[in-house]
Amino acid sequence: LTKDTLAKIAEIDPDIDAFLNLNDQAQVQAQAVDAAGINADQPLSGIPVAIKDNIVTKDLTTTAASKMLENFVPIYNATVVEKLNAAGAINVGKLNMDEFAMGSSTENSAFKTTKNAWDHTKVPGGSSGGSAAAVASGQVLAALGTDTGGSIRQPAAFNGIVGFKPTYGRVSRWGLIAFGSSLDAIGTLTRSVKDSARVLNVIAGHDEKDSTSADFDVPDFTEKIGQSIKGMKIALPEEYLGEGIDPQIVAAIQKAADQFRALGATVDTVSLPHTKYAVPAYYIIASSEASSNLQRFDGIRYGFRAKDVKNLTDVYVRSRSEGFGPEVKRRIMLGTFSLSAGFYDAYFKKAAQVRTLITEDFNQVFENYDLVMGPTTPTTAFGIGEKVTDPLTMYMNDILTIPVNLAGLPAASIPAGFVDKMPVGLQLIAKHFDESTIYQAADAFE
Ligand code: GLN
Repeated sequence: LTKDTLAKIAEIDPDIDAFLNLNDQAQVQAQAVDAAGINADQPLSGIPVAIKDNIVTKDLTTTAASKMLENFVPIYNATVVEKLNAAGAINVGKLNMDEFAMGSSTENSAFKTTKNAWDHTKVPGGSSGGSAAAVASGQVLAALGTDTGGSIRQPAAFNGIVGFKPTYGRVSRWGLIAFGSSLDAIGTLTRSVKDSARVLNVIAGHDEKDSTSADFDVPDFTEKIGQSIKGMKIALPEEYLGEGIDPQIVAAIQKAADQFRALGATVDTVSLPHTKYAVPAYYIIASSEASSNLQRFDGIRYGFRAKDVKNLTDVYVRSRSEGFGPEVKRRIMLGTFSLSAGFYDAYFKKAAQVRTLITEDFNQVFENYDLVMGPTTPTTAFGIGEKVTDPLTMYMNDILTIPVNLAGLPAASIPAGFVDKMPVGLQLIAKHFDESTIYQAADAFE
């Protein structure tokens, strides 16, 4: 399988540019798994997977698609990588992304432009664009991605595959290069719902190395797959079908609602009234956390260091000026501004209050419903270069995915047809730690 996967990557990836770096030990590792034989404790025995490049891999370059980490070779594995290894999976390589996971198109990578698997003139979405395009173009069956404001679900939607962001705390973030620590989640990109559950089974669980990792039992996420959704109560927020959402996407989602009704569920219109404040609140919170997390890239400890520097300040200023790309710098400036003494109450504190209101919106709906459904994105994949010079339009693309991260909920994007030959994503959101119900409904829909 690994040999076949590497051959497929060699054949397909020159047109897609999803991989930043291949694991030259993959075949050796696969042979070791073969030699050990099939083992019931290794549910992914010999299965090739690929990993977003902001998740650290021992002895394998990990760049977060930034010049800052161009030659960074970690000395340890992220917990999720350790868990994949223990399950027998073979990591074949590292996947392109927006620099430090900041973006919605993978155009913010310092290294290459990944193409949408369905139309090479379009973006694959982001920031896990490499993960989505690698899976959708048939190179690997499963990839890990990360989702801070939609970065698993949006690229999954743009590429017509299954993207799953677990509940905040369900999967350890240890070894994830942090962006917005209160929002970041590691999750899966796969072609099928069941494969997603199988990989989540392996990577989920408490980890004492991550203080925000939840000490909860992990169910078998495949347990409800195949069960009827008769009687399931699904909410469809009116804000998710309103202004700014492509009418053809609205029609696809209404059709999906009818399909759920035909399967025996009820689908009612509800309201999540604070949805419109999610994007501004998110950009304050995520940028504030990012500005703090990225302080470690100082040109001293590791990563890029500017040449011919005059003194210590010069090392800091020039290394950061030359090492970070424009979007990362924009976030650092936005974040340090929002956190600064004179503006804290007006920006960060307000955003944190909005975050609570958004969480309460969801909590209220979940008092009466099992799931929330809606589109994943307002449009299908846009053209490469189309939005890259207009950050605000790019930010608005995340309006339907960001509320979930602010509330820490689990959510998936699954394929729901096409508009003008480009895939549409259906988003399913559940209560905290109720991933299994998403899998049940997603499987029934699939
Ligand atoms: N597109 C959003 C951003 O740029 C979300 C990114 C993400 O989820 N990592 O912040």
